Amino acid sequence: MKITREELLRRSTRNMQGVENRIAEWGQRIISQVYDEGIFAQVTGGYRSHEQQAYLYGQGRPGYQFNGTKYGRRGKVVTNAKPGQSIHNYGFAIDFCLVTDNGQQAVWKVNEDWRRVASVAKGLGFTWGGNWNSFQDYPHLEWTHGMSWEELKTGKSPFDYPGFLLRRGSRGKRVKQVQVAVQIRTDGIFGPKTEEVIRHFQRKHCLQVDGIVGPETWVNFYR
Ligand SMILES: [Zn+2]
Repeated sequence: MKITREELLRRSTRNMQGVENRIAEWGQRIISQVYDEGIFAQVTGGYRSHEQQAYLYGQGRPGYQFNGTKYGRRGKVVTNAKPGQSIHNYGFAIDFCLVTDNGQQAVWKVNEDWRRVASVAKGLGFTWGGNWNSFQDYPHLEWTHGMSWEELKTGKSPFDYPGFLLRRGSRGKRVKQVQVAVQIRTDGIFGPKTEEVIRHFQRKHCLQVDGIVGPETWVNFYR
């Protein structure tokens, strides 16, 4: 029997405990949207405590200790991030995989369906680990707007990031994401047309009408 959307959402929700609320909400949207397209995917992981990160880091590093506890063991190295160095430690990252039609097995093949899941996520402002140059982390999605773990460690949130504000004159990838969200031509330049559409959007959603895309406006794109 074909796996249901509810079951995939249930599993994903369970695996997203501790993830920032809005990220978890968008994780569900991704799973639900691709389900409509006949793609069966689920979130496999989200928030990791420092101890959980130490456990991952310890694999393949037999002598490794963290806070006086031995985590090191044999095996293949799976991460270079020590506790505190992964976006997962701050609740702004999730991992996913595809599953078989009956939902009983994970499918780790990075095929067209896999890329489609990543693409839906990118439309919501996520960065996909499959696009990284140094090493590709295909299950990985993070929502940081370029903030590093060092910045997250200070307690800042990507939702409060000063560089987050997009306004008339802004350019680049994030402007394109905004244009995709409000369905206008995506040239990556925040010009008068973009501003007008944003003002209209803000009015419609009872937001402060300033034509500037900050966290509140951004979040409303994907509600
Ligand atoms: Zn990850």
